[in-house]
Amino acid sequence: VAAAAVASGAVRREDVRIAPRRLMDRGGDAAVAEWIVSGGFDVVGFTAYQWNVERCLAVARTVKEASPGTVTVLGGPEIAPGMPVLDAPQVDIFAVGEGETLIADILGRGYRRGLRRGYHRGLRRGLGRGLRIAPGLADLSASPNPYLCGLMETERGDPMYLETMRGCPHRCSYCHYGKSFPTVRRFPGSVVPEAFRCAEERGLGEVYLMDPTFNASPRWENALESIARANRTRIPLHTELRLEAVTARRADLLLRAGLRSVEVGLQSVNPRALAAVGRRWDRRAFEGGARLLLRRGIEVRTGVILGLPGDTAEDFRDTVRYLKDQGLLGHAEVYPLSVLPGTRLREEAGRRGISFMPSPPYWVLATPTMGAQEMVDAVRETERDFRMELFQPVLPRFRDGKDGFLGFADLRGRAPRSLTAMAPSRLGAALTLLVDGDGLSARGDWRKLGSWLRRYNPSTLIQVVVDSPTRPDASRLEAVADALHDPASYFERIHYLKHDAQGRFSVRMFHLLPDLTPRAVDDGGLCDPILRCTPALLARGRDLLRDRPFVLLGRASRPGDVASLRRLYRGWEHLLLEAPGI
Ligand code: SF4
Repeated sequence: VAAAAVASGAVRREDVRIAPRRLMDRGGDAAVAEWIVSGGFDVVGFTAYQWNVERCLAVARTVKEASPGTVTVLGGPEIAPGMPVLDAPQVDIFAVGEGETLIADILGRGYRRGLRRGYHRGLRRGLGRGLRIAPGLADLSASPNPYLCGLMETERGDPMYLETMRGCPHRCSYCHYGKSFPTVRRFPGSVVPEAFRCAEERGLGEVYLMDPTFNASPRWENALESIARANRTRIPLHTELRLEAVTARRADLLLRAGLRSVEVGLQSVNPRALAAVGRRWDRRAFEGGARLLLRRGIEVRTGVILGLPGDTAEDFRDTVRYLKDQGLLGHAEVYPLSVLPGTRLREEAGRRGISFMPSPPYWVLATPTMGAQEMVDAVRETERDFRMELFQPVLPRFRDGKDGFLGFADLRGRAPRSLTAMAPSRLGAALTLLVDGDGLSARGDWRKLGSWLRRYNPSTLIQVVVDSPTRPDASRLEAVADALHDPASYFERIHYLKHDAQGRFSVRMFHLLPDLTPRAVDDGGLCDPILRCTPALLARGRDLLRDRPFVLLGRASRPGDVASLRRLYRGWEHLLLEAPGI
């Protein structure tokens, strides 16, 4: 969008910036808002998806408070007539449709009235507040690539997100893509060689082809040939495709182009469920395509949808079993069905008896063939029977991130409210607080900290680790969790299918045990236990490790024990928590 605005002449290249990825990924909301305010921008545009729309609003609110004259524009798939987000007072302009045409228009009118000083006043006079709807689809030949025109900042090893086309010839009823973009449009062919040259020069670690179905068009082999020629240093390539169209020759070509991993949509093995959402599946061709890619060492990530209309819990289990039989389970990705606004499925939901969340991620809650509890049970049984994690556990971290954002605070012997003295913009996207048992008792302090966090950094996830030789007091634990918890958090909604005794995810409680003291383990499920890697654990505590609890690799952990533990936790290494100072 920014690149298109520059190309249209609406703004000068030096007047536009895209926020750095590491700031967006690792910084808290206040850090992003501060970057915008300190940049002195006249206009700030947010792209709102279901997973970030609430965060966009939180950042926009802080920006407006600090700099009321900055014009805030919200676009992206979440912005459509009738959506509740359109009431947000911190947003000046809601852009509906492809941003490329709209943003040039929005900026162009204000720009011509005289850039910079007083620009926002001109913009307000010219357009007023409210909805702006794109007049049509963007001309992709006039939309430059943001990497090539230098707008997208990267660091060595970062991925490059590359679009070569937009649109999809298929019409899956739950997907926006086929409906919003009725035709398949392509970016100019020259983008591919130039993008690979740029990725090579910048030392990027992967090219991620964003095309919704890379092999959707009859000319996809030509595009692939062009990538194979352009990708001289074999930068790993990732894309999404349909396995049914993969032949041995095409698999060779994909490998030559640098393909390392693909996403493929299976969704279900139940033909009735697939027909209900407008999908087709050729089982033999799918299996043949998977085999050809796997034999060439290409990772196949297969998507499965839980809660499709017509699917029962047993059908879901059949689908997971099928993936296991095909050797595809290791990289499977399970998504609950999203009933997205603006899709055909959403229009049909009432008639089909599908209930779903009214706010993002709009996940299915129940269908006539699968009840709410059956979905929770299906997730739990799949995780147990196939030893897999459909929902990644929330992990505490015992050090700050490398970008300088505060990610860890040792509050043992310190008042929790002491944190509120620091600038909110120092906070990262996740924060681990290490406390002792006594530290849980300062209820007023925790409430103060909770409201400070929600005020400035509502998207930051909190993990509280209680370092205590005895089982933490249940009522104190509850009080601290309550003080920090945001029940309305998006993160809570994307865990609703997870069977879990704590029942909270935006704040997570842990108990760090001193040594091999199983009796101190909280059996009420109020905390996740963390064992320390000590000689005693390895010598006498192997039974405790069978359920793969978190283990802290700390000061007292001997290198030999750590190595044994790593062998024991192969495939589950993320549950081993590095904490050299503790
Ligand atoms: S889900 Fe994939 S194949 Fe189906 S319409 Fe959307 S982009 Fe196309």
